[in-house]
Amino acid sequence: MPPFTRPATRRVHDSEHARLLQCVEAILERSDRAVPWEPDTVGLPDARTDSALARINDVAFYANARNEVSALAGLCLDLLGLHSPDDQDDPHCQGCRLPWPCPTFGEITRLLG
Ligand SMILES: [Zn+2]
Repeated sequence: MPPFTRPATRRVHDSEHARLLQCVEAILERSDRAVPWEPDTVGLPDARTDSALARINDVAFYANARNEVSALAGLCLDLLGLHSPDDQDDPHCQGCRLPWPCPTFGEITRLLG
């Protein structure tokens, strides 16, 4: 069936998959382009407590955020690549073969939506 005659629900799920893919690609691109953080790059926000351990946690979070965001965005891209609709009239997930949208894609949509 040509794409312009596909059922409307199919096009909605295809466009939702494409929208999430674009969203995650943009996150990955921004994190990869960002300058790695260092304490004197932009400083640290004011501490909420006097705890040295909490401050160490803050520094560790900011220092690792860029790489961790990139890793998580890469994982999301891989999952979206695995869980995508096939090109059949009655679409199924190419990864898990369940009817489209599969539960994994539904969960990704819920979490990133
Ligand atoms: Zn799936």
